Amino acid sequence: MFQVPPLGLGYLAAVLKQRDFEVEVVDLNVEVCALERLLSVGQPSIVGVSCGIGNARQAFEVVRKVKTCFPECFVVMGGPYPSIMGEQLLFRHSDVDATVIGEGEAAIVELFEQFQNRQALSNVDGLVLRDGNEIKRNSLRVAIEPLDNLPFPAREKLPMPLYGENAGVIFTSRGCPYQCVFCSRPVFGNRWRGHSSKYVLDEIEHLIRRYGVSTVSFLDDNFAFDSDRAEKILDGITAKKWKLSLYFWNGIRVDSVTEGLLRKMRKAGCTAVNYGVESVDPDVLARIKKGISLEEVEKAINLTREVGVKANIFLMVGNPGDTAQVVDEVKEFVERVKVDGVHLSMATPIPNTEFWSWVKQNGRWLEAYDREELLDWPIDDVESACPVFETSDFTAEERIRAYRKIRKLLFRNGLII
Ligand code: SF4
Repeated sequence: MFQVPPLGLGYLAAVLKQRDFEVEVVDLNVEVCALERLLSVGQPSIVGVSCGIGNARQAFEVVRKVKTCFPECFVVMGGPYPSIMGEQLLFRHSDVDATVIGEGEAAIVELFEQFQNRQALSNVDGLVLRDGNEIKRNSLRVAIEPLDNLPFPAREKLPMPLYGENAGVIFTSRGCPYQCVFCSRPVFGNRWRGHSSKYVLDEIEHLIRRYGVSTVSFLDDNFAFDSDRAEKILDGITAKKWKLSLYFWNGIRVDSVTEGLLRKMRKAGCTAVNYGVESVDPDVLARIKKGISLEEVEKAINLTREVGVKANIFLMVGNPGDTAQVVDEVKEFVERVKVDGVHLSMATPIPNTEFWSWVKQNGRWLEAYDREELLDWPIDDVESACPVFETSDFTAEERIRAYRKIRKLLFRNGLII
């Protein structure tokens, strides 16, 4: 699996460096023995472990190793998984001293300062803390704004050459105000905030000059939410004649593109767009509160192809309201609408989302799925993707069969990405 620089850790390192804290970052996804090396050279006072959704097992293994070597070290976890699990994580993992809920930059700086001054952490907003036998949640922290106050991620602390073509990832905005029932946005939240176009162009220039990138991948939840800003960024890239390849990995909403924006995307170096469609059944689209219609989906796909950009879509099998009918619906759709590729996945609820509550009310969790730890996250885009729940009108067996049939159909048509 390809790896990208962990920008979340990069931002934390950057704000800590600004306050003159000594900090080291290791990315165990690409530096296999880095933890042992780091633990053998010095005694850290605080170790932060970042944890996404689906890699909790590895993250707890790191915590265990750190605490075995340095029982006195303060271990704080952050990222999507700790933000979702909150107190539950500390109840279940006694090696973890605290978690950061949501955006970590301001919380981590305060945590370090309080720690250095031997002050209590009870007034550091954004933390869940172990306090003796109790677990306490401090107040939530307000979202960082304006985002331009943040320094660029400290990429100099990351093993940038190891990411190859994926080195050029960037966040130009945070948060998303839409209400899709399967999406939790646990770190950046519901309020959209964007970097100014100048900040973004300066960061891209930094990536080109310092790291020689020729591909820039935007990791935003919703890059085009502010269309004026998006157009300014694209115009800026074109005007600078950087000749970049641009990717929007997390998808663009079909209702946020216009012909003008698509033309600017193409001119700036974008050859393919991924649209978050998720279902081609209008009733299911309404149930998952995607806030888009099938007409908008088709219009965006056709427009995209007309301006010479490939149109790929994300699709999920097993959404609320799906039945075995989904196979015919996808077949009909890809025969009628010319998409260039499909990212297929098995619909899997994230805790504390509306989808999760829906399964609790309308479905049944499958025994093999450890829903407390999310340790058995299904693998997408492979033959063996597994459901984690079933409903009476779409059983686990039917879900697997439907997923495989759709995958085979897409594969036959050269559409699987
Ligand atoms: S799926 Fe995309 S559009 Fe929907 S809420 Fe999440 S980030 Fe926003």
